[in-house]
Amino acid sequence: MQVFDHPSFRMACQQFDLAADYLQIPDDTRERVKYPRRAITVAVPIRRDDGRTEVFTGYRVQHHNAFGPTKGGLRFHPDVTLGEVAALAMWMSWKCALTGLPFGGAKGGVTCDPRRLSLDELERVTRRYTQEVIPFIGPQTDVAGPDMGTNEQTMAWMMDTYSVHCGHAVPNVVTGKPTSLGGSVGRREATGRGVGYLVNRATDAIGLDLANATVAIQGYGKVGSVVALCLARYGAKIVAVSDTRGGIYNARGLDLWALGRHAAQEKTVTGFPESEPLTNAQLLTLACDILVPAAVEGQITAANASQLQCRILAEAANGPTTPEADAVLRERPEIFVLPDILCNAGGVVVSYFEWVQDLQSFFWGETEIVDRLFRILENAYTQVLNQSRKEKIPMRLAALSLGIKRVTEARRIRGLFP
Ligand code: NAD
Repeated sequence: MQVFDHPSFRMACQQFDLAADYLQIPDDTRERVKYPRRAITVAVPIRRDDGRTEVFTGYRVQHHNAFGPTKGGLRFHPDVTLGEVAALAMWMSWKCALTGLPFGGAKGGVTCDPRRLSLDELERVTRRYTQEVIPFIGPQTDVAGPDMGTNEQTMAWMMDTYSVHCGHAVPNVVTGKPTSLGGSVGRREATGRGVGYLVNRATDAIGLDLANATVAIQGYGKVGSVVALCLARYGAKIVAVSDTRGGIYNARGLDLWALGRHAAQEKTVTGFPESEPLTNAQLLTLACDILVPAAVEGQITAANASQLQCRILAEAANGPTTPEADAVLRERPEIFVLPDILCNAGGVVVSYFEWVQDLQSFFWGETEIVDRLFRILENAYTQVLNQSRKEKIPMRLAALSLGIKRVTEARRIRGLFP
C-alpha cells in the first residue's frame, strides 16, 4: 500500500501487526482488516480574498464499514497527507470497536493552514471539499466531525452544503455541529472530559492523589484546554501548557481562566504573564505527575521516551507515541499509559450520541449525555485494564487487540462478497 506511505501510516501498521501477532490473525485475513476500504483524493479550488485562485488538496479515507457507517473527523493542517489521514482512519476503527459503537473508522483532511485563511476562505474550502466528497458521504455511509483546525462552524458549513444538495436538512451527515443545528450538548467538551475521567480512574489504579498532582499538556486547543479545566476541577495543578509557538510554565499552577482570555485574544498561550517560557520538547520531559500530549502524532519517540518523568501518560492526541517509544515504555512500568484509542474516545462516543439524537429528532440533556459517556468509558477502561493485567501486556496492546479482534470477527462473520 505504497500510496499511503507516511510515518503515521507505518506506525499504525506496526501497531496493527503487533496486535495481529498477539491475536494470531492469519495472514490473508490481516491484509483485509488492516488496509482502508476506500480512499478519495480531491482538488479543492477556491477563490482567495485577493481574487487569485488557489487549489488545495483534500482527502477522505474510509477504513471499514462492517458495523455501520464510517465515522471520523476532518483535519485542516498544512502537513495533512493521504497517508496520515489513512492512519487516523485506522485508529478510529479500533477506537469505535473498543467502545462498542456501530461505526467503522474514517478520517478526512485538507492540506491547508487554517490560520492563514480568512473566515470566508475557510468557508469556501469547506464547501468545495464537501461538494467533492458528496457521492461518498452520508448519514448511513460516512459521518464527519471536527478535528485539528476545524470546529462547529466547519461542521455547520458541511451540513449546509450536503443539505442543499439533498434538498432538505440532513443534520446527521456530520457531528460536532452547533446545538442550534442538531448538535449535541456536551460534544464540545466530550473528548477532554473523557480524558479527565480516565486520568482520574488511572490515578486510582496506581494510587496517585489527583488533588495534589501536577499536569503538563502539549497542545491547548479544543481538547487540551478542556482537559486542563477538567483536571483542575479534580484539584490537579496545571503547571505547563503549549501550542505550535511554544510553551509556558508556572510551578505554582497556571490561572486557567486568565490563560483562556489570553489565548483567545493572542491566539497563543505564549507570552502569558506569570509564567516562564519553555519549548515543546522541554514540556514533554518535564517532571510532572500527568503528561497529556494533545496535539499531533509522533511526539514521544525513542529519543525522549527514556526521559519522561511522568507517572501517567494520557494520550489525548491520536498517535502521539511511536512504536519505538512504546518499546522503551515497556521497560518503564512506573509510567501508566492511557493509550489514545481509549483515552480520547470520549469525542466519538458523544458524536455517536449526536448521530442517534439526530436520527430520532429527540434530544437528551447534559446529565444524560455525561452519565452515558462515563458508563461507556468505564466499561472500555475496565476491559483494557483487566486484559492488560491478566495477559501481562501493555495497555496499548490490550486496547488495540480488543478493538482489532472485534473488527476481524465482524468481517469474518459477514464474509467476503461476492
Ligand atoms: P485543535 O486544532 O483545536 O488544537 C490543536 C492544538 O495543538 C493547538 O493548540 C495547536 O497550536 C497545537 N499544536 C499543533 N501542532 C503542534 C505541535 N507540533 N506542537 C505543539 N502544539 C501543537 O485540535 P484538537 O481538536 O484539540 O485536537 C488535538 C488532538 O486531539 C489531535 O491529535 C486530534 O486528532 C485529537 N482528537 C481530537 C478530538 C476532538 O474531538 N477534537 C477527538 C479525539 C482526538
